[in-house]
Amino acid sequence: MKTFLYLRKSRAEDLADSAGDTLRRHREALEETARALRLTICGVYEEVVSGEDLYARPEMLRLLRDVKNGLCEAVLCMDVDRLGRGTMSQQGVILETFKEAGVRIITPQKTYDLRDEADEDYTELQTFFARKELKLIKKRMRRGLERTAAEGGYLANAPFGYEKTREGRLPTLRAVEEEAAFVREMFAACARGESCAAIAAFLNACGAKPRRSAAFSRSAVAAILRNPVYTGEVVWNRRRFLRTGGENASCRKAENPREAWLVAPGKHPAIVSKALFSLAQKRLDAHAGPPAGKRELVNPFAGLIRCAGCGRLMQLRPRPNRPGGYLLCETRGCCRSCGFEEAAAALREALLPLLARIPASLPGEGADEERRRRLLRDAEKRLAVRRERLCELLESGVYSPERYEERLRILEEQEEKLREQLSRLSPVRSEAALALTAADALRGASPAEENRLWKLLVSEILYRREPGGFTLEVRLRVLPDL
Ligand SMILES: [Zn+2]
Repeated sequence: MKTFLYLRKSRAEDLADSAGDTLRRHREALEETARALRLTICGVYEEVVSGEDLYARPEMLRLLRDVKNGLCEAVLCMDVDRLGRGTMSQQGVILETFKEAGVRIITPQKTYDLRDEADEDYTELQTFFARKELKLIKKRMRRGLERTAAEGGYLANAPFGYEKTREGRLPTLRAVEEEAAFVREMFAACARGESCAAIAAFLNACGAKPRRSAAFSRSAVAAILRNPVYTGEVVWNRRRFLRTGGENASCRKAENPREAWLVAPGKHPAIVSKALFSLAQKRLDAHAGPPAGKRELVNPFAGLIRCAGCGRLMQLRPRPNRPGGYLLCETRGCCRSCGFEEAAAALREALLPLLARIPASLPGEGADEERRRRLLRDAEKRLAVRRERLCELLESGVYSPERYEERLRILEEQEEKLREQLSRLSPVRSEAALALTAADALRGASPAEENRLWKLLVSEILYRREPGGFTLEVRLRVLPDL
């Protein structure tokens, strides 16, 4: 078998030695292999330049020419990597030429026969090259992505509220009005202090559908509220992929710190204002305390009472085996606790007279309520149409009675959710309703509702422990018309 050596340094070796030691060592190793396999070496191709490009590798070109002319039957090299490099098409040229001539590639570890298509080695070789190429493509894509983002384009899947479009060559987004209305409502509700779970319930009752699941969850709502894309910005470098080591190596997504995010003005329209977005972020930050599953708010003054000593928020803690709780400053040794009910009663007593002077619907609330009502009414209309259509499908025999029953049940569940949300809206305001005060509204309110009310009125409450008792200093927000 007419065998030739192909010698070439890798880039790393290039930097490591300049005296040609590497090539000499490789040559010795390959000659050793040839002896072991009883091959006679007919010649040597020694690449002295180390360009990545095939056409900058004269010895490889000479080898290919010789292979084509049938002068060579096997090539000995240190590893397939030495033959590879360059672009996929260039590697293809090398592989195809070798394959057509039936030339074997022999490395100290393995012999590759490219002619045998079924040969696993060949597949392995292909994947080896493909893997290298993939890396290159990924790198190129990443650069492309960053350039697109810097120009304000948007490449990922369109988020809820938008659909993909193009502006010239640049991919970007355009608002989908039906969804955008829900997005605006979500941000407004969040800014009002509603929980993500409550917002999700509202959206589901309206029949709004997220992109990749059947219904909105608390976390899906949070993800939307956290996405700056809705203010008309594009953000990249938000996440990085961590490779975990070990046998079961896998990738894990991790959020980069906000400082590392790259933000550019997008070409797409904003759905919410920057002011509303940042207000929602503040609410979300404030809510991101207790772990999931423990979110039932029992403290109507949550987020309002601070320790005057250290400035931290006082926490409501249950008393073991006793009803009621106590207010705790979490700083060790800062100040003594007090009974929660005692503090709450004092606060209500001080604040209720103020509430009596505020009309039940605060400035700005009317518009919010109106928008909510409209979204729910629209959903109601859609459901009515669906009910109608369902009857038609039964009558025309498209649906069997069982199928009809099943669909009807789903529809009625949806209607029930909708009614529940509608019942939460305050009745359409009449003269009598206007006479209602916030104090009236407080009667029968849940801790969360009461909390919402106090947050509108109070900016903070300072807790001071003094000998023989405690004081609560209430700082009010400046409200118009008060
Ligand atoms: Zn403290």
